[in-house]
This record gives sequence, structure tokens and C-alpha cells, in this order.
Amino acid sequence: MMRIGFGYDVHRLIEGRKLLLGGVEVPFEKGLLGHSDADVLLHAVIDALIGAAGLGDIGRHFPPTDDAFKDISSVNLLERARALIEEKGFSIGNLDSTIVCQAPKLLGHIPGMVKTIAATLGCAEDRINVKAKTEEGLGFTGAGEGISAYATVLLMEKR
Ligand code: MG
Repeated sequence: MMRIGFGYDVHRLIEGRKLLLGGVEVPFEKGLLGHSDADVLLHAVIDALIGAAGLGDIGRHFPPTDDAFKDISSVNLLERARALIEEKGFSIGNLDSTIVCQAPKLLGHIPGMVKTIAATLGCAEDRINVKAKTEEGLGFTGAGEGISAYATVLLMEKR
């Protein structure tokens, strides 16, 4: 059996924070604001995984009110999400995602993101896809106020 999941997330860009996307530190003058490291791509991926497994959402499992998750690496949260889906008997079919970001340019960082996500989920890199695009200067991502991300995942039930 197969299960599909979808995830979306957005974080505000501010000065004085590191920019982490897909577990990779991207050099930039601003970073994303959040309770954890605010890795918007990994949060969308985690929500897609949790959604596909029918387990609610990221906030239910890793609440932003919990000090245990303050400044935590989202790679650590992705590891925990992997454990949740494996506990339910699922493995990764494939994952596709899009980061919406006006600046900086992300193309050169995508292979590192794919590698990190695949290694954390314990699957082959060719099952993981990351895309990046701008919003043509429109809206809050276009104005550089924030970065958003979308992810879809297919889970396979282990038999
Ligand atoms: Mg988030």
C-alpha cells in the first residue's frame, strides 16, 4: 500500500541568524527566525512524512512551546520523524520538494540538501528531489521577508 503526504512551511528572514535549508548552512546576511533552527525545507518535509503516516502535524510531535526543541537541529527532528513513520511500518517511496526564495541563489547547495535528507531518512539519493525557485519578486518571499517550502512524499507500507 502507498500513502501520500503534503507539507508546507514558512519562516521569516531576520538578521543575526544562520540560514539553514535542508540541513545545509547557506551563507547569507540573514537567517530564518524560529524556535528550532527554523529549517523551513526540513519542516515541510517532516510535515509531509507525518501527514502521509496519518500522525497529525509537526507541532503535535515537536511543539514550539517545548524547551527541548529550542534551537534544535531540524536534522534531529527529521530523524525523529523517520522513527515515527518506521514505527508505523512505512518506508520512503520518494520525496519531492520546492523552496521558494528570492535570495540567495540555492542551486549550488541543493546536492548537499539531497545528500543530507537521504542520509537522514536512510534512503537512496535518487528518491529525494529538491527544487528552488523565486516568486518573481512578488509577495513576501519576493520581497525577501521570508522563505517558504512545499514537500510531497510517498510512503510505502512494508509487508
Ligand atoms: Mg517551521
